Amino acid sequence: MGPPGSGKGTRAKMIGKMYRIPVIAAGDMLREAVAKGTDEGAVARAYMSRGELVPDDIVIRITEERLSKPDTENGFVLDGFPRSMRQAVALDRILKKQNATLDTLLYVTAKPDTIVGRLSLRRSCPKCGAVYHLRDMPPKEEGVCDECGGRLILREDDVEEIIRHRFEVYEKQTFPILERYQAVGKAKEISGELNIDQIPGAIEEILGKPQVL
Ligand code: ADP
Repeated sequence: MGPPGSGKGTRAKMIGKMYRIPVIAAGDMLREAVAKGTDEGAVARAYMSRGELVPDDIVIRITEERLSKPDTENGFVLDGFPRSMRQAVALDRILKKQNATLDTLLYVTAKPDTIVGRLSLRRSCPKCGAVYHLRDMPPKEEGVCDECGGRLILREDDVEEIIRHRFEVYEKQTFPILERYQAVGKAKEISGELNIDQIPGAIEEILGKPQVL
């Protein structure tokens, strides 16, 4: 977990690559539902465009369904879930059902000014979820996704007023659940202010060296 623009998604993707496990990003799954044009997608979009959390029932159902797929058997990274107390309780239930345990909750810390500066320069691929930063991590070809060739966009919630609101929502609804994981010694902090090349080392320090298969 981490505030919007803290580099949460970048770290989650790196963990996925390093440990060869799937990255399950709640925001990406919700944006997929929006793109599909389902009723649920329409509800999700209304909340997302305002920077509010999408109702728990929807997010929990989508995440639970994703976690039931066989590729999660050797582990997975959740990016952006849980984000509320009800989601945290639901995650406990889902993990128990699957005989899985949570190893670590990584929380990313970053200053509000870093966040606004980052998000307004962020460009995202609506097709595959890849994320770029116009100054720090630009795509090879302007406006085109390196991974899938999709056309990059500025997300409709990556505008200053909505970014500030998302930050407030994070502090009010998401940050308090950290205590739950701190109480059992599973919460570990990772800085959101690291350069890209410093991130793998910081991750290894916390999660250990990836096994060579
Ligand atoms: P960021 O972390 O930069 O805000 P995300 O893609 O993780 O980006 O989330 C974007 C939006 O998707 C959130 O502002 C919220 O509206 C919705 N969302 C993502 N994850 C959740 C969740 N676990 N519960 C409710 N809403 C969520």
